[in-house]
Amino acid sequence: MALMKVKDILQHATENHYGVAAINTFNYESVMWAAEAAKRERIPLIIQLYPGYESYISLHHVASFAKEFAEKADVPIAVHLDHSATYEIAARGIKAGFPSVMVDGSSKPFEENVAMTAAVVRTAAVFDVDVEAELGHVGSGAKLDDIINSDNYTNVEQAIEFVQRTGCGSLAVAVGNAHGAYIQTPNLDFDRIKKLRASLPVPLVLHGCSDIPHEQLQESVRLGMSKFNIATEYFRACSASIAKVATEGNYRGDYCTLLQQASEDAIEFVRGKMRLLNPNGFSL
Ligand SMILES: [Zn+2]
Repeated sequence: MALMKVKDILQHATENHYGVAAINTFNYESVMWAAEAAKRERIPLIIQLYPGYESYISLHHVASFAKEFAEKADVPIAVHLDHSATYEIAARGIKAGFPSVMVDGSSKPFEENVAMTAAVVRTAAVFDVDVEAELGHVGSGAKLDDIINSDNYTNVEQAIEFVQRTGCGSLAVAVGNAHGAYIQTPNLDFDRIKKLRASLPVPLVLHGCSDIPHEQLQESVRLGMSKFNIATEYFRACSASIAKVATEGNYRGDYCTLLQQASEDAIEFVRGKMRLLNPNGFSL
């Protein structure tokens, strides 16, 4: 029974100097393959869902089977709802059974972000649910300005005030990272990561970790970043696995065979990321 709180996994990671892969999923297989990677790699993992996929699969479905995989795993796995853009989405995630939610008010003015985050924290506390928030806006990797314009990055003084006033459990920061495929190789602002780490009492989260060069991810781990969100690259790996099996000469169109045989490459992708974020080789 190893469903564990995000808060506890991130604390364990901080104490043992590794970064936790937070793998975005959207269906049964993507959850199962991520959980299998954690079991084989022997380090904790976070499985998460972006609520934008709600039109494809219900929050309740993913929360249910992700928690069941976690409970049956012999390594700690946490289950988290990614980017809730409104109070209502975060609350719906809590109602659907997510033990951890993100509320993202980073595109709103500071005071509105504080108010929405604090409201989610109050509601979440009633149900003992962890809350990740965001300050400084992590934009799109397709837009150069979102990557290189430091006006979008997290301001250290504001972050201190934000964490104090909202009571959020972890904070996603903007330090040159962005979502999706990058139009240009990112160049993370390590000085800012150092200052944020030294100034804030909560674990820090790096979104948009797909395609960030390996040495930059490992330096971020060394500087104390705790949670590393990976979506784009995992979805790419899942698609590539399925495409590979489907185009093999001996494939006869059986759907079950397709998914079962596609699992190995996707599992190995997640294991590779877990090893990358674990430069000291921690193992349970
Ligand atoms: Zn994100």
